[in-house]
Amino acid sequence: MNSDAVLLLETVNFAAEKHRNQRRKDPEATPYINHPIGVARIISHEGGVANIEVLQAALLHDTVEDTDTSFAELEAKFGPIVARIVQEVTDDKSLSKQDRKRQQVEHAAHCSRQAKVVKLADKLYNLRDLNRCTPSGWTAERVQEYFVWASEVVKGLRGTNYALEERLEELFRQRGVQL
Ligand code: NDP
Ligand code: ZN
Repeated sequence: MNSDAVLLLETVNFAAEKHRNQRRKDPEATPYINHPIGVARIISHEGGVANIEVLQAALLHDTVEDTDTSFAELEAKFGPIVARIVQEVTDDKSLSKQDRKRQQVEHAAHCSRQAKVVKLADKLYNLRDLNRCTPSGWTAERVQEYFVWASEVVKGLRGTNYALEERLEELFRQRGVQL
């Protein structure tokens, strides 16, 4: 009972339970779990990556940052590789929001290849979400600033997955943001 399919179901169920009370920032308040599932799907269907640990890490990538989940819990349940990838893509919540944003830019290039794939797909999902509709209370300037910041992060992730980077580049081009 340890096939990849079984592992993925266990992982998506864990993430769904952890995020069960959370919603996205779009005006319709979409259930949060749509995001990690969508990030994992981008990795498999658009990035062509079928590595089970990367897909599990994508499903779990916001559990520590946004819920009561600990890295020890992830390691005990899903093993050290998955826990490490999630750790690499998790912001340090003890820092101010501005410092967290700066740290993502500085850390991007030093991440493992597996973590870079998750980060690329995470940014791609969020930028598409912003193009789909503006989060409640956001101005057009704030959306544009998010694109500029995301481009700074993506600069450090280049050379990881051509298909995902090409799609991101197109989104930046449409916004007039230089990569
Ligand atoms: P936030 O970090 O507050 O929000 C963006 C994050 O929210 C995403 O990274 C994503 O993270 C999550 N998210 C949830 N729902 C959505 C959705 N529907 N679409 C996209 N992302 C979603 O944004 P910032 O504070 O960074 O704001 C963007 C820019 O605007 C910044 O560069 C900032 O300088 C500027 N700005 C910020 C202001 C502020 O009050 N903070 C005010 C004015 C401008 P995840 O993947 O973890 O879910
Ligand atoms: Zn995310």
